Amino acid sequence: MTPKGHYGVYGGQYVAETLMGPLNELAAAYADAKRDPAFQREFDEILHDYVGRESPLTVCRRLSAKLGGATIVLKREDLNHTGAHKVNNTIGQALLARRMGKKRLIAETGAGMHGVATATVAALLGLPCDVYMGAIDVKRQAPNVARMRMLGAKVVAVEEGSATLKDAMNEALRDWVTNCDDTFYVIGTVAGPYPYPEMVRDFQSVIGREARRQCLAKFGRLPDEAIACVGGGSNAMGLFAGFLDDREVKLVGVEAGGRGLATGEHAASINGGRLGVLHGAKTMLLQTDAGNIIDTYSVSAGLDYPGVGPEHCYLHDIGRAEYSVICDDEAIAAFDDLCRYEGIIPALESSHALAEAIKRAPKMGRDKILLVNLSGRGDKDMDNILNYKKSLGDSASLR
Ligand SMILES: *Cc1c(COP(=O)(O)O)cnc(C)c1O
Repeated sequence: MTPKGHYGVYGGQYVAETLMGPLNELAAAYADAKRDPAFQREFDEILHDYVGRESPLTVCRRLSAKLGGATIVLKREDLNHTGAHKVNNTIGQALLARRMGKKRLIAETGAGMHGVATATVAALLGLPCDVYMGAIDVKRQAPNVARMRMLGAKVVAVEEGSATLKDAMNEALRDWVTNCDDTFYVIGTVAGPYPYPEMVRDFQSVIGREARRQCLAKFGRLPDEAIACVGGGSNAMGLFAGFLDDREVKLVGVEAGGRGLATGEHAASINGGRLGVLHGAKTMLLQTDAGNIIDTYSVSAGLDYPGVGPEHCYLHDIGRAEYSVICDDEAIAAFDDLCRYEGIIPALESSHALAEAIKRAPKMGRDKILLVNLSGRGDKDMDNILNYKKSLGDSASLR
């Protein structure tokens, strides 16, 4: 990576001139914080005392026995406070905001999980917080809107464009340009202009560092493959960061195939997208020939981002990581399996990563280990799953 955050041809800072000042200030402040042991100590302490880290590794004994091949092992980010990995990043950025003397947090959110994670840390640190959310998402994700409000955040409905995540992010960037003197923009994934992709990866890298250490302690060796779902790509980059230098560990990112790549109704930016610029970075995007962003689709709202973090595109190009596609039906089947065989209700996002492991395990020897990042818990997805099953007339699964 070159200093300005380029990953091969990807990344960079494709922003209006007015944003260069705030981005340079942020990059300098982050570089300074990264070197400061006191900053790291406070971050680690909150992760321990408030989030409940470290999160355990769980061996899926019954599921692995049923599949009859590799052992599936879960990194349990679902057990974090707020129920997913996102809080690791929002704590890091909120501490940085306080260190920079910023008095207000803003965030974008799609499914609402990043909004809730940001509202949570805003309450923890006593900072006011505005969350931009597409008007359609405000309606679709009512429980998370209620959570954000309960935590004291203001939810701003964005009516522009398709009134979804990409429009919310555009509005948040606009707010930031106008109010950057006192406002810190908390981005929810490894996307956006430099230094966000690097900073968010660093804050999430606690997942991979813990998992590597835990694997060595538990099995006396590293996993054969490390698998994570990819929306914007933050939980995957966090996991991969722990194993990038371990060439023998295969890294696998899993994109949302929705109703299938051929239908066009998916959210698979690397497998089904093209090079473009979105939200300040050059990356793989779902866009039309004319360069308009295509609305994404996935049964899992958290994977519904038309772009992907630039570092993933680079890892794909150099062959260090591979990126596969899992469709709605496969993710739902994996969701059912984890519920019934292990007593764990996973998030639909994480179910995509699990589905990939379930495909791979039977083709591998019993001595192999597949490490899956269980990025979140599934309580938030109940309505969604019931509706999906109802639409299929799958009455057997509703018993
Ligand atoms: C938001 C979310 C994701 C997708 O975001 P990434 O940046 O790709 O990690 C995955 N899993 C859960 C549980 C989420 O809430």
